[in-house]
Amino acid sequence: MTDGAQLKLFNSLTRQMEPFQPVHPGEARVYSCGPTVYNYQHIGNMRAYVFADTLGRVLRFKGYDLKHIINITDVGHLTSDADAGDDKMEKAAALSGKTAWDIAAFYTAEFKRDLNWLNVTPPAKWTVATDYVPAMIDYAKSIAEKHCYELESGLYFDVSTVPEYGRLARAVTDDGEGRIEDVNGKRSPADFAIWRKTPLGETRQMEWDSPWGKGAPGWHLECSVMSAAELGMPFDIHTGGIDHREIHHPNEIAQNQAHEGCAHTGASIWMHNNFLIDRGGKMSKSAGEFLRLQTLVDRGYHPLAYRMMCLQAHYRSELEFSWEGLGAALVRLKRLVMGVEKIDATTKTEAKEQTFSAAEAMSIVHYGHFAEALSDDLNTPLALTEFENVIAYKQTPAVIKLSLIREMDRVLGFDFTKLTRQDLRIRPKTATITEPEIEAALAQRKDARAARDFATSDRLRDELAAQGVEVMDGDPLGWDWKLS
Ligand code: AMP
Ligand code: ZN
Repeated sequence: MTDGAQLKLFNSLTRQMEPFQPVHPGEARVYSCGPTVYNYQHIGNMRAYVFADTLGRVLRFKGYDLKHIINITDVGHLTSDADAGDDKMEKAAALSGKTAWDIAAFYTAEFKRDLNWLNVTPPAKWTVATDYVPAMIDYAKSIAEKHCYELESGLYFDVSTVPEYGRLARAVTDDGEGRIEDVNGKRSPADFAIWRKTPLGETRQMEWDSPWGKGAPGWHLECSVMSAAELGMPFDIHTGGIDHREIHHPNEIAQNQAHEGCAHTGASIWMHNNFLIDRGGKMSKSAGEFLRLQTLVDRGYHPLAYRMMCLQAHYRSELEFSWEGLGAALVRLKRLVMGVEKIDATTKTEAKEQTFSAAEAMSIVHYGHFAEALSDDLNTPLALTEFENVIAYKQTPAVIKLSLIREMDRVLGFDFTKLTRQDLRIRPKTATITEPEIEAALAQRKDARAARDFATSDRLRDELAAQGVEVMDGDPLGWDWKLS
């Protein structure tokens, strides 16, 4: 089932909403910048993939044949200036005593587990940067003469050789050059390394022979090469977090222009999710402890509560993380799961033959609003409200509501017809009370209330609360974790 509304997306290149017009009719080819696998991903990083997943799901919902690529950066991404431009992978290897390859394998697996927890659909292909090094060398060779110059430290791209460098960022400043080593001899601060030579006398774990000596590809080069190799040029949509709008993507565009020999930027539409922020500073890996999906699970929050939190905000809005906000998202998800469970149960008992009613029509009207909201630059907050409206109409036959729910869930991605409230009840890591102990205390409390012994009933409730268990009178599941 699809709606007729034209899909409009906000293009960071033009800073305008634009109709989606695929390069290849009926297809949608999308490339998302993936993680650098030197550490765990924080929940801010995961917002970028929930966003890319939502985009992919909407494209499929609209009937396009989706080809989505996400890369794994396992070489070439530099640390800040202060580290004098180390490769993040090499640095992590030196600190841990493990090989860069082992580190990459470990954090890639952790990342994929987090995606799975969030119901993020796997891409058609994961492109791993180190698998494409020969292609990167060929690509660099083809643009070297016209667009690059060689220094002792590597091969650098001269940004003055392409038209409108930095148009995506809208401001050419030296800020943000932190990801690029400050190198003597660069013609412009915005020039960037596409090949970084291993310094004389040093050996790196990850290095390859090239016409410019032993070394490793630059981070920006990787994405241009892998997107061209897998999707062809030009393709439809390139995504990433908003930080990439400033340096990484302008540099990809410059390379694409150099390689394609034309003004085309590579992708027709460049889309960027805004940041998840945390006032406590827990969203920066360099600052030490940071929030991971596992941290949320350890505190008793189901990962899909975080998915809900992301969808409740528009992807272009900044989203502030708080435990209260996450708790509210979990409650909303539970209510929806309960609603769907009820509708599912009703389908088994309601009469087969039903006449078309006005209420049924109302659910379908809201389904239309749901689809329109998504066509309007992926307005998931509004789509969620419309989802709630669809299931709210009591008179609509359950069987119809269920089929609408299934359709909408293709985009929302909660697996509503399988997810149970029991699944959402996750035991916090630090909780000591066992579930049978909770059930026993609740049974005792029930007896006390039946005997109108409210003092005992209140005492039991307080004792449970002290152990992180909140008693919810009137709720069919009866209790919930609430560790603070
Ligand atoms: P990285 O591993 O640093 O390349 O980041 C992976 C993805 O997460 C990129 O698309 C970044 O733009 C994105 N990202 C980084 N920090 C945040 C954040 N706090 N909120 C949302 N996205 C982020
Ligand atoms: Zn990239």
